[in-house]
Amino acid sequence: MPRNNVRWEGKRAGRVLIATRNTGKMRELQPMFADAGIALVSLEDARIPADALEDSLEVAATFEENALAKARYFHGVSGLATVADDSGLEVAVLSWAPGVRSKRWSGRPELSGQALDDANNALLLQRLKGCADRRSRYVCAAAYCDGAREFVERGEVAGVITLEARGSGGFGYDPFFQSEELGRTFGEVPAAEKARVSHRARAFGKLLQHIRSRG
Ligand code: IMP
Repeated sequence: MPRNNVRWEGKRAGRVLIATRNTGKMRELQPMFADAGIALVSLEDARIPADALEDSLEVAATFEENALAKARYFHGVSGLATVADDSGLEVAVLSWAPGVRSKRWSGRPELSGQALDDANNALLLQRLKGCADRRSRYVCAAAYCDGAREFVERGEVAGVITLEARGSGGFGYDPFFQSEELGRTFGEVPAAEKARVSHRARAFGKLLQHIRSRG
């Protein structure tokens, strides 16, 4: 019964389901969609409980394939127009790893939230110990699926990995990622400043143009 309600209300209100359980991503995307006049419905609001199957959605070699897989899956589950992203950190000297494996790079399936971020960041520092070349970039693929149309867009932001954490804002690798454009880490800058240059803002900015151009 809740599923059916979600289906109907979502279509009527022109809302879009956001297929993520990452609160950091949610916080970044909500204002962007609000500015565009679109209300984002979370998986929690849509009463879609976590399912072990979700882990098998992000197994492809590219951000674009993974983002589309998530958008298609959650559109299928909810019947709502759905957006999803797949994102990660790429480091030049590591042959652009961890890439699509960024979330689980440290190989600690028992961890989540801040503990998982800490383990990933510790591994990042360890791998870059003594490296002069600390060039990196964040990549995000943003996907949309409503059953009739689907598209995917990519955004990137260049930076370097700092020697130590700076700031406590953002999430994930942010305290170690110094944006080329901002000259500060994403952990140091206010959310609005990160949103001005971030890989996620760039990918979803392009995606929103598609969504709004609907005839
Ligand atoms: P996924 O897109 O849910 O597979 O997770 C991407 C992972 O990449 C996150 O768990 C973070 O570790 C990292 N990541 C992606 N975007 C960001 C960002 O904006 N800041 C910090 N870490 C990020």
